[in-house]
Amino acid sequence: MAISRVSSVSSSKQLLSNLCFRFIRPLNTSSAVSSVGFAEKQDSTTVLLPSTEVSEDVKGLFSSVPTGKLIRSFLTLKMVSMEPVVDLGTWVMTSSLMKTALFRGMVVGVTKATFFDHFVAGRNHEEAGEIVKMLWKDGLGGMLDYGLEHAYDSVSCDLNMEAFIQTIESTKLLPLSSVSAAVVKITAICPVDLLKRMSDLLRWEFKEKTNNLPWKMNTLPIFTDSSPLYHTLHKPEALNSQEEKDLELAHQRLHNIIQKCEEANVPLVIDAEETLIQPAIDYFTYSAAILHSKDDSPLIYGTFQAYLKDTKERLISAKRAADKMGLRMGVKLVRGAYMSTESQIAASLGYDSPIHNSIKHTHDCYNNCASFMLNEIANGPGSLVLATHNFESGKLAAAKARDLGIGKDRQKLQFAQLYGMAEAVTYGLKNAGFQVSKYLPFGPVEQIMPYLVRRAEENKGMLSTSSLDRQLMKLELKRRAKAAIL
Ligand SMILES: Cc1cc2nc3c(=O)[nH]c(=O)nc-3n(C[C@H](O)[C@H](O)[C@H](O)COP(=O)(O)OP(=O)(O)OC[C@H]3O[C@@H](n4cnc5c(N)ncnc54)[C@H](O)[C@@H]3O)c2cc1C
Repeated sequence: MAISRVSSVSSSKQLLSNLCFRFIRPLNTSSAVSSVGFAEKQDSTTVLLPSTEVSEDVKGLFSSVPTGKLIRSFLTLKMVSMEPVVDLGTWVMTSSLMKTALFRGMVVGVTKATFFDHFVAGRNHEEAGEIVKMLWKDGLGGMLDYGLEHAYDSVSCDLNMEAFIQTIESTKLLPLSSVSAAVVKITAICPVDLLKRMSDLLRWEFKEKTNNLPWKMNTLPIFTDSSPLYHTLHKPEALNSQEEKDLELAHQRLHNIIQKCEEANVPLVIDAEETLIQPAIDYFTYSAAILHSKDDSPLIYGTFQAYLKDTKERLISAKRAADKMGLRMGVKLVRGAYMSTESQIAASLGYDSPIHNSIKHTHDCYNNCASFMLNEIANGPGSLVLATHNFESGKLAAAKARDLGIGKDRQKLQFAQLYGMAEAVTYGLKNAGFQVSKYLPFGPVEQIMPYLVRRAEENKGMLSTSSLDRQLMKLELKRRAKAAIL
């Protein structure tokens, strides 16, 4: 069980928002943090708490977590911070040894007891629903993310669609507004090979400045002049009749999911994936957003990855086009989770990586895109989900949102963090008055493996996102040990 399931002591949440100010500078040295925090008004006590007070704060924060669970969560985060362990774990999870039943069974067992319980909200929507209820009591929303990705044929796509629809249906039994979004990966409902073919054709159309894709519906701009087009070096064949039929089926699946979302009054967030197939994902997102455009707030959110060099230009161009059409654009902004694949593919084709050359450029891109969107939505159409664990990005966006008068009541801005990660950022923003949600991936252990591999990659390294959470847990474990001895 992850700590986020049990951190329901209200006073401790306030204290946690204070704690992050005290701890963030020494621990999260990858980003400079000024003394201004998420809260509107900072007094000196929130920046520098005396150490005796800190140990009381941590006690409150973890008061309902049994020591065994606390140790397990701490060890899980500690394990994923060790690069050799993560490299070995990633190799094991993706190796051909996994085809052996006995070996697979062992790996699944270990994963279930460690990473899975920490980073995943349950094996099915009933279990995830319980987490939603707990978060709701804590003043947080839940984004339900049934962990399905990469289907290769229509039968699996249909099954996946049914699973997404069931998930959306299940929200009707949960407290009103407790589910802030349902999440879908287009790779789960459209065969991946077709997404590659469509992306090739879209790139070629943009490259050659032609307009000859008979299947193409009304959409927003997918590329700009700075977009990487190296995946498509030769003119692709047009879609054959079978591919066109498969495309029609994929549109229909997305349409069915959206209809369920409309019925349940739950927005749909579409995740971003690798650049190899992202043009097709954007195409599905934009064409569906245009078809299902609403007058009040967006029903569909597309995702922009700030680690890509062309993202800021792409975001501005899509937003401008949406405004011209009168479309209220929903944007989720992330840094991006496919770094190693992107670099490998680009290198194998002899091109530069599409990812910013330094982490600083990624941070700047994220903060600039957030700032652009905040200005846009302050007095204009559109909504924004800032999905990040980065304290500095949260702090900058919170300050700007306050300046622009975008608050909780406006329903225009939401922050989001992944389940089992960045509790200090989550509660800090929530206590500062913003709407905050946890992304809740759920599903059977074996199905959720690719997600766990990405989380392990992201948390490795001593200065990773989870370092603050680890430090808070360590403090509490020390405090309990001392109390037991004395
Ligand atoms: C709610 C939510 C939804 C998400 N949805 C998606 C999604 O749809 N698609 C997706 O791809 N990801 C998604 N992610 C994951 C996200 O993209 C990041 O992997 C993760 O959140 C870490 O970024 P951060 O903003 O939290 O920043 P930080 O905690 O500061 O992490 C920064 C990370 O960025 C990486 N990085 C980026 N650019 C560079 C660079 N140029 N050089 C070196 N390192 C670099 C590093 O690995 C580093 O660990 C989501 C995350 C959240 C919280």
